[in-house]
Amino acid sequence: MGDVLDELDAWLDDNWDPDLSVRDWWELLGSAGWAAPALPSTAYGKDLSRNDALAVSRRIAERGALGAPGGLGMLLAAPTVATHGTPEQVERFVRTIVTGAHAWCQLFSEPGAGSDLAGLGSRAIEDGEEWVVNGQKVWTSGGHIADMGMLIARTNPEAPKHQGISWFAMDMRQPGHVDVRPLREMTGRALFSEVFMTDARVPDDAVIGGLNNGWAVANTTLAYERSGLGAGGSGAAALANAGTIAGDLDKRAGDFVRPRGPGTGGAGAMAAGSQKLFIELARRNGKLSDPSVRQALMKLHTLNELGRYQTLRLKAMKARGQDIPGAGNISKLSMSEIVRQSRDLGLAILGAQGTLHAYDSEARKVLDEATGLPESGFVTEMALFAQGPPIYGGTDQVQRNILGERVLGLPKEPNNDRVTPWSALPKNG
Ligand SMILES: Cc1cc2nc3c(=O)[nH]c(=O)nc-3n(C[C@H](O)[C@H](O)[C@H](O)COP(=O)(O)OP(=O)(O)OC[C@H]3O[C@@H](n4cnc5c(N)ncnc54)[C@H](O)[C@@H]3O)c2cc1C
Repeated sequence: MGDVLDELDAWLDDNWDPDLSVRDWWELLGSAGWAAPALPSTAYGKDLSRNDALAVSRRIAERGALGAPGGLGMLLAAPTVATHGTPEQVERFVRTIVTGAHAWCQLFSEPGAGSDLAGLGSRAIEDGEEWVVNGQKVWTSGGHIADMGMLIARTNPEAPKHQGISWFAMDMRQPGHVDVRPLREMTGRALFSEVFMTDARVPDDAVIGGLNNGWAVANTTLAYERSGLGAGGSGAAALANAGTIAGDLDKRAGDFVRPRGPGTGGAGAMAAGSQKLFIELARRNGKLSDPSVRQALMKLHTLNELGRYQTLRLKAMKARGQDIPGAGNISKLSMSEIVRQSRDLGLAILGAQGTLHAYDSEARKVLDEATGLPESGFVTEMALFAQGPPIYGGTDQVQRNILGERVLGLPKEPNNDRVTPWSALPKNG
């Protein structure tokens, strides 16, 4: 690893310049393979392990340079296309992700298909060299700033439900055909949207992994989602937003380099740095000698340590060419538990003050002044957000079903949906 970091240091010496635009800096970083070094070297990566890739992103931050673009393009779309796409598709889609030129969203869930994702009803019908898509998606994180969508849609309704789905790379910028409507959350933010597709078009050469093979491709996406989220994968993302819609590409790269701290939100931040914050808050609120708070702090510390040892164990197994079956599911489940514990501990420390939450930066300033505890806004935001991680990427119950059926070999829930055509199955709603 030392060699890789030396190579990175030399590259940063030659290339980092805070006066570059975000676009120009990410173009350099991505095309050199430093934006997503865990990808294969044939797909703008450097074949590094996940841990080594995290060490690279930490070193970029330590050196005061702007980190790689974040978002679901990097976390999910790039590794999925790198795994299943043709070299031409890798060139077309992965390149624009690792250089931050395009932001992506994940068009999987529908009002009638969440846990039962394979039951989805969005239809794609062939029309010459294109596909015409109609349907609705929901809970689309980052949909409002996405240039491209990872779309799964039904291409053969007469096949059993898992066999008639295809995975498309769809251009979201189709006014009148792709309608993105933001949904406001109880945190006050609108991080996700509903997406309506009305005769939207996708070229045939944007089918990734082969026609009607979308379930296998989607499982690759979900595997990256579970392991990435479980490891707090989004935590190292740059503060600038990727893509043409967010409007950061033409800004000065150096202006986005600032220390990351409480307030950036999200589960990754919550899992990673919150123990020190809780200890400090407990000290200031006079709760550090409260036995229940001390016990909860130790429980949280233990869960985080277990997660760290699990990651180390997985790394050692992978180095020997082995794997831990269900590791991604286990790590996502433990992340959900850490998030819940953090929510309960944070609110226990804040007491009645935990009922106060500011919904915008102006209100936050007023609240911070009134309470004298600026960190409390971070705690209430993560407490409100804590309901999300046990749901997205497959709920806790679904993770346990997968572990039971695919890892422990328990009998599957009885149903006939592996043989019945999707068109003949009963539908939700
Ligand atoms: C913050 C957030 C961000 C999200 N971002 C995205 C995104 O970017 N793109 C996207 O496509 N989706 C996204 N989602 C959607 C997410 O993937 C779904 O919410 C999730 O898969 C659950 O589906 P559902 O909401 O339809 O719940 P349902 O499937 O209706 O489940 C309802 C309840 O029933 C339980 N249940 C269902 N089936 C079973 C079963 N077989 N066994 C046991 N229990 C079961 C579930 O565990 C849950 O408790 C996001 C969700 C959240 C909360």
